[in-house]
This record gives sequence, C-alpha cells and structure tokens, in this order.
Amino acid sequence: MKILLTSFYDLGKQPKIIAEIADKYSTSHVEFDCIDFSVDNPDLSLDEYDALGIYAPMHTATVLSIEYLRNKKLPDKVFTFGLYGSVLEDFNSSIKHINNIEDGELDTFLGINKNLEFSLKNNIPNRSIFPDISNYAHLVDGRNNLIAGSVETTYGCKHSCTHCPIPITFNGSFKTFSIEKIVNDVSNQVDSGAQHISFNDPDFLNGPVHALKVLEALNSKFPSITYDATIKVEHIIKYQKYFMQLSSLNMIFVISAFETTNDEVLTLLDKKHTNEDLSMAIELSQKANIDIRPTWMPFSPLAKLQDLPNIIKLIESYKLRETVDPIQLTIKLLVPKHSLILDKTAVKKYIGEYDKNSLSYKWAYKHKEVEKLQQLLFESLSNNPDLDDHHQYLDMVNIIEEFSDTKLLSTSEYNFKNVPKLSETWFCCSEPSKIQLDRIKSNTALI
Ligand code: SF4
Repeated sequence: MKILLTSFYDLGKQPKIIAEIADKYSTSHVEFDCIDFSVDNPDLSLDEYDALGIYAPMHTATVLSIEYLRNKKLPDKVFTFGLYGSVLEDFNSSIKHINNIEDGELDTFLGINKNLEFSLKNNIPNRSIFPDISNYAHLVDGRNNLIAGSVETTYGCKHSCTHCPIPITFNGSFKTFSIEKIVNDVSNQVDSGAQHISFNDPDFLNGPVHALKVLEALNSKFPSITYDATIKVEHIIKYQKYFMQLSSLNMIFVISAFETTNDEVLTLLDKKHTNEDLSMAIELSQKANIDIRPTWMPFSPLAKLQDLPNIIKLIESYKLRETVDPIQLTIKLLVPKHSLILDKTAVKKYIGEYDKNSLSYKWAYKHKEVEKLQQLLFESLSNNPDLDDHHQYLDMVNIIEEFSDTKLLSTSEYNFKNVPKLSETWFCCSEPSKIQLDRIKSNTALI
C-alpha cells in the first residue's frame, strides 16, 4: 500500500507526528511518502496513492489544506489527524478523522498492521523524511540567525482554557515522552545543524519535575544549545521554584499566553490567572533572567475599550516593547466547532452562525466600538508591512491613544534592543489574519 502523509503548516516546525506515524506503520507492505507543503510544493498526482493522510494541527493548517485539496482527484481513502481533524472531517465528510493515533483506529481504516515494536513514548522520530532543518523557523536576535529545532517533553494539556482546541481532544490530560527519546531526537537535530531548540509542549510546566529532568539532561549533553518554551502565567507563579532554575539551563525566553488584562474575559477563558498575576509573572521572569514574550488576544466578545490602553500600560511599565510582537495587539478570538467557549452563558448571545468557509463561528462585540479599534490596528499593520517592529508598535499605540483619549507614552526616549525570538512567533489558538496567511504562503513567515 502506498500512502502519502501531508502537512501544510506547523508553526514553522517540522511536523514530527508525521514521522511518528510513518515509523508506526513501517512494515514491508506499506510505503510512505511525506510532503511538508509549508516548505515544499511538488507537483503531485494524489490519486496515484492508495491513501492520503492530512495533518490538521491547527486552524491555519486546516484552511491551507482545504485550499490545496479543492478540485483535486483524491485517493479512495483519505484520513486526517491532529487537533483540527474533526473540523476537517466536518468540512468534507469523505475524510475520516482519526482521533487517536495511539489506538487501532487507523490500522482498521487502512487495513494494515502496525510495527509491533513501535511506541509513541519511546520511538525516536526519523526526521530525515523532512526537508532540511534549515528550511524551518530560525532563532533571530538582530545579529544572528540560528537554525532552530523543536521537541516535546509532553503532549496534551492538563488545563481546559475555553478558547483552546487542546482540551477538546485531551480533556484535561497529558502524557510524557521518555527522556531517552527526547535527548536522542535533539541529538539528531543538533547533528543536522540546530543551535537552538524550541519546546513545543502546549505548556512546558504541565509536568514540572519531568520538564526539569529533560532540560538538565539536554543541558549536560549540549551545553551550548539554547532553549525556549511556552509556560502559562499560572505555572510561572505556582512553580516558581522550577521556573527560577530555567535560565541556568540555557532557557533564553518563555512565551506566555497573557491574552488580556480584562479579568472578566480571563475568567470566561478559564485561564486561571488574573490581571494582577501578569505583573507577578513579569517580575518573576525578570528576576529569573528570562525574557518573557507575552501573547495577547485582546479582541473577544466581552472586550472593553479600556483593555487595549491597559495592555499598553503594562508593556510600558515593564519595558516589554521588544518582547511583544505587534501583530499580537490585533488578535481576535477564534471559535471553532466544539469550542468549550460555546457552553459559556456569558457569551452565548454574542455567538452567531457557523461559517463553513472560515471554519469558525461568527461572533459580535458587546461593546461595539471595540470592533473599530481592532480594524484600525489591523489596517495600520497591513498598510505598513515594511516598518520595523518598534515603529509598528508606536503607530499602534498612537491609534490606541487617539481612540481611547488616553496618554500612554510618557517618553519618546526608548532604547529598543534586539532580543532573541523565533522567526515564526504567533499563537495558534487565534484567528490567523490575512497578513499571517500571506506570510506563510510566501514562506516569509519561516526565515
Ligand atoms: S491555552 Fe495553554 S494552558 Fe490552556 S488548555 Fe490550551 S495549552 Fe493548555
């Protein structure tokens, strides 16, 4: 049987799960081809294959896969996997969603046997099936442009934030990968040229003891490699004992989903942090000598006009201009099928029809004027794509000052520094904007 496994976008990282599926079913009766369309675009006849597998990890990847599949003659068996697999199945009912690649669902669908020696926890992914690692997201800090690899210590998440697709599938649970698998996977990527490793865990401190053991093992084997990870505000505070050790193990920055300063919205999202906690997380990161890179989702049905000035005040008071990507200030809530937020009484009346084309529910603002502000901020970015981050930010602050009639910048003097970040930095639970989609399609999002 000849099977084509495809990925369309995985936040600038190699789609590791594709290698794991190929390993799981690699027997003498099955032949796999793997294409990552985010960095490659070969001319293919899909119907030459007996089966097609589509990785749908997130909204953007799913939108791109639908665009690619349109008007193509498909093999008899088409399946999808990943967090947005059910959304893709909804869109096209001839595509079978495989909910869990660890059980036998895919074996039955394809009528093939798995390699009995395979275990997801322990198998080291064969990344040689992907384009060279240098084609993917890099670590940039103004002077250097370093090849970055990626790895996960866990999969799933023990939390249930209502805007996030992960709890829809994992229902508040997570599993760990073995330390041996992780160290060997990193070792292979270092051999291929990686100088920085990004931890892809939805939250690096879901299992803090395991995470620290992994980082210690990696740091002792590869002392010159640097790391980044995503850690929620609640965990930075709750596990500060562990957080404080990260810098000495070469963790150079941490992405943290702040979302908004509006406590009513934070409660609705079930983030388990408050506006006050944001300051505490920033202070802890400064004490721990780690750059914190907040991600934001300022625009959602209950957003208030005052939220944006409050976000800017926080950025200014802690001098965080360098670690906030301007596009973050425009991000809108995405409400996919099965989203947990659909059950929240406080927003029900603002949720509209499901839009099959955008794969999300339409929604309206309680405070109508907020919509205009989002549009102005987004236009400012779209109309000035060549401005550097600092000037994009200043333009957006100007708009927020005028719109809210609030003075936000106390000084025009600011020593804007280049700090390390990934060349692809936005957050996957959010609605992708046209700017983001265009960047991905032209591959400028990646390097
Ligand atoms: S937003 Fe982060 S912490 Fe919350 S459920 Fe999703 S991955 Fe977990």
